[in-house]
Amino acid sequence: MQVDKIEMGTVVDHIRSGQAYRVMKILGIGEDYNHRVAVVLNVPSKAMGTKDIVKIEGKIVSPEAANALGLIAPEVTINIIKGGKVERKYPITMPKELGGMEKCPNPNCMSNEEKTAFFKLDNKKYRCYYCERLFRADELV
Ligand SMILES: [Zn+2]
Repeated sequence: MQVDKIEMGTVVDHIRSGQAYRVMKILGIGEDYNHRVAVVLNVPSKAMGTKDIVKIEGKIVSPEAANALGLIAPEVTINIIKGGKVERKYPITMPKELGGMEKCPNPNCMSNEEKTAFFKLDNKKYRCYYCERLFRADELV
């Protein structure tokens, strides 16, 4: 099925089947939204079996909104479309908390004796529960 390309807006891809309307609700797309919105349900997907896609014309989803979405639908991809082309793609949003598998890079941190725990402050930084230092998610792996 072909859905018209959008000039400017956001394509939310890799939505778990059945979650499209929930995603729209979180992004604030309701009955009063006055641009085109294409909702494509149950698209065959190699990775997911089937997936939903939402194309929203005239709305650029912010990284903050993408993060909020990531908490309920971490597998989604946000594609920002400008001039009919994908201008930016947000990576899959990191979880709110990490721990167990990850290690604190601070050699003096007491979590190295115990189970680690990190809490996300924004999309890039995590705070160690024990030494309170900030790290990027990729520093913890
Ligand atoms: Zn630490």
